[in-house]
Amino acid sequence: MMKFEHNIPYKIYLTENELPTAWYNVRADMKTKPAPLLNPATGRPMTFEELQPVFCDELIRQELDNDTAYFPIPQEIRDFYKMYRPSPLIRAYCLEEALQTPAKIYYKFEGNNTSGSHKLNSAIAQAYYAKQQGLSGVTTETGAGQWGTALSMACAYLGLDCKVFMVKVSYEQKPFRREVMRTYGASVTPSPSETTQIGRAILKEHPGTTGSLGCAISEAVEAAASVSGYRYVLGSVLNQVLLHQSIIGLETKTALDKYGIVPDIIIGCAGGGSNLGGLISPFMGEKLRGERDYRIIAVEPASCPSFTRGTFAYDFCDTGKVCPLAKMYTLGSSFIPSPNHAGGLRYHGMSSILSQLYHDGLMEAVSVEQTKVFEAAEFFARTEGILPAPESSHAIRTAMDEAIRCRESGEEKTIVFGLTGTGYFDMVAYEKFHNGEMQDDIPTDEALAQSFAKLPRIPGQA
Ligand SMILES: *Cc1c(COP(=O)(O)O)cnc(C)c1O
Repeated sequence: MMKFEHNIPYKIYLTENELPTAWYNVRADMKTKPAPLLNPATGRPMTFEELQPVFCDELIRQELDNDTAYFPIPQEIRDFYKMYRPSPLIRAYCLEEALQTPAKIYYKFEGNNTSGSHKLNSAIAQAYYAKQQGLSGVTTETGAGQWGTALSMACAYLGLDCKVFMVKVSYEQKPFRREVMRTYGASVTPSPSETTQIGRAILKEHPGTTGSLGCAISEAVEAAASVSGYRYVLGSVLNQVLLHQSIIGLETKTALDKYGIVPDIIIGCAGGGSNLGGLISPFMGEKLRGERDYRIIAVEPASCPSFTRGTFAYDFCDTGKVCPLAKMYTLGSSFIPSPNHAGGLRYHGMSSILSQLYHDGLMEAVSVEQTKVFEAAEFFARTEGILPAPESSHAIRTAMDEAIRCRESGEEKTIVFGLTGTGYFDMVAYEKFHNGEMQDDIPTDEALAQSFAKLPRIPGQA
């Protein structure tokens, strides 16, 4: 028999009046602020003017603002959010039952929109500010395709042009994502391409390369800076993206507060850190202000372990080294995860905000092997019904591990995790898993040392 608590609904929704009206900027409550972006040529913090050719003005203001706690969400964005938000906070009764755990598990499901992930929360905000500035379009990169899809939806809604550089291997292996983007009017170019200088240079140096996220970023930045009326937008890592994604955490907190539920453990998968940063923001705010304590856990792939095996240093955000330097936990911008890695979260670095919080001991991180991740994904699909994205399944794995620990210790902990998206476009990865062809390729210490040796030297610093 399932242990339904009749005072707590299966899914906790919010009414329109309960939806957040402002994003929360966790930097406002951080005692040690995240390190600023640096200009690689001078070693000095990037100024508003230096960022202007690449980013939209309002987004630069958000990026550089470490002090303002709340940014009102413009009405047009709130209206768009209403098309697919609030996202449900679901009590995982079936999963609890299957695990025979006394733990109470909740997950915030962000896959209820066509793009299939949380990325739409920031895509609409970034497209809105580009439109407001009178620009004609935006450029970006996409790996697996979730961000490109989200951005193409947002641009279609607002009537903006959208140019997506898609990592070549994904362009070829994920034709369905590509066609979704084209359905929403985006142009999609496989990266590296002949359409940019950096793309041509990379192709010359590595003919036949299947591309990487870092390389696609370099191309998208170049494409934005070289055509007037265009700016570059990025779906993760940046402070502004975490700000927009705070909508996830604010809704979660309002929903939990409504029923007097206080989580003990909050878990999220971490690629560049945006969903996790967004989910934990209001809880981390309480922790930083000394009001409450939570265990917060970032989960990353063992094959791309930025937090658990990376180094905290200034690094390039992209392979082509055209972007500013960010201080973060990084594997080095030349690190490329094994081609056998199918579980997403492949970025070499991590949000500067989360990196600082982790460095200051305010959150934990674990890495998990992908076969264990897909085992959890399948278990979850069979018990809770939702087919999870491989990325999201990292969080499922750790939530399950914590719930199993509770079964052993008898503790009735409340666990909240972020279920960032659906896995419909990831069936090739699931197929590999089902056929027993999935391997766990974990980078050696030597491989990481080689990559660390190529970290940039900062001008003016020893
Ligand atoms: C992009 C993506 C992630 C990872 O990105 P973060 O910026 O770390 O949140 C996780 N889950 C899904 C479904 C994604 O599309």
